[in-house]
Amino acid sequence: MRAVVYNGPRDVAVQDVPDARIERPTDVLVRITSTNICGSDLHMYEGRTDFPRGGVFGHENLGQVAEVGDAVDRVKAGDWVAIPFNIGCGFCKNCERGLSAFCLTTADRSVMPNMAGAAYGFADMGPYRGGQADLLRVPYGDYNCLKLPPDAEERQNDYVMLADIFPTGWHATELAGLRPGESIVIYGAGPVGLMAAHAAMIKGACMVMVVDRHPDRLRLAGSIGALPIDDSKGSAVDQVLELTNGIGADRGCECVGYQAHDPQGHEHPNMTMNDLVKSVKFTGGIGVVGVFTPQDPAPQDPLYKQGEIVFDHGLFWFKGQTIGVGQCNVKAYNRPLRDLISTGRAKPSFIVSHELPLGEAPTAYRHFDARDDGWTKVILKPAA
Ligand code: NAD
Ligand code: ZN
Repeated sequence: MRAVVYNGPRDVAVQDVPDARIERPTDVLVRITSTNICGSDLHMYEGRTDFPRGGVFGHENLGQVAEVGDAVDRVKAGDWVAIPFNIGCGFCKNCERGLSAFCLTTADRSVMPNMAGAAYGFADMGPYRGGQADLLRVPYGDYNCLKLPPDAEERQNDYVMLADIFPTGWHATELAGLRPGESIVIYGAGPVGLMAAHAAMIKGACMVMVVDRHPDRLRLAGSIGALPIDDSKGSAVDQVLELTNGIGADRGCECVGYQAHDPQGHEHPNMTMNDLVKSVKFTGGIGVVGVFTPQDPAPQDPLYKQGEIVFDHGLFWFKGQTIGVGQCNVKAYNRPLRDLISTGRAKPSFIVSHELPLGEAPTAYRHFDARDDGWTKVILKPAA
């Protein structure tokens, strides 16, 4: 089968690899028809985080079931399914509590003895090959395949967002504690930030502010009724305070991660955390889904070493704020979010800028990585 293979920093190719196949009776084999490129792929693509050469990317996957193992009975060949990027077992202590991003069964404990959580197409998240390919093996398929309604094939560009970023954006607002009628500021108008904004609008926030500096991404934020804040035109914190009568937003979300830029456009990993503490009100809540994993070598910042982000804890404490962080437990959200899509209440495909055949993955990675104007979200279509 063909797959997007990593050959080194900023070097991916579509190559032939051995077919994915059923390896265990609980596996489901899915023929992938939509598979997204994610900001999380870029950490590995750019060589910021490790990824084995020859490994296959792709954790935002949707397709049609090709074959099921003997122990699978909820899904069958022909079903259209969205596949959470986390690989859970469904029966460990964490999965049972809905914490499927921290599954104890599927984790690779050679990474660290108490490791929890697994995903497709990441280093340190288990040996699971990604789905930017013709086929994907889905472990514990009964648990990990979300069945889709009859309009699945035509509306793949909406449903594929259930694999990661729509639940992740929703999760950011949950971690922040957003309630109807509250205001929220979202740092980052990438796909994840735009999904957080979409979630906040659906949840009934009174004001949704989205900070970035890419005009095309800010325009998309505006298109769903959010207030775009361009931080190249002046301090984001000042603009949020002005819009909230000097009080600050009730809630804030971090949807950027450690490669955040500072006002001069230089990479500054502490930037968004400090800005959140300042632009969220006293007693407000902050949800962090941007990735801040340990980095070796560390970015060019004296305050940042091996994942240690320095932010103003004193001010955070003084303001009595709360914070929630981490990977999204996709299983905790994807069923209701699927139903919001199928009834037309949610339309996460508004961020899609490109649908391209799998063979064009190297070009797509180049443009998405450069954040080139208009390249907001790319879906690769292996069947095209
Ligand atoms: P992206 O890189 O396309 O988007 C990030 C956006 O943030 C860019 O548009 C950039 O211009 C903007 N930005 C940079 N510095 C900023 C600053 N100081 N203030 C405001 N905006 C700033 O990536 P994405 O696909 O949207 O993903 C965002 C983050 O979410 C990444 O770190 C990704 O790894 C992470 N992520 C986490 C989860 C999870 O489960 N927690 C899931 C998916 C993605
Ligand atoms: Zn992703």
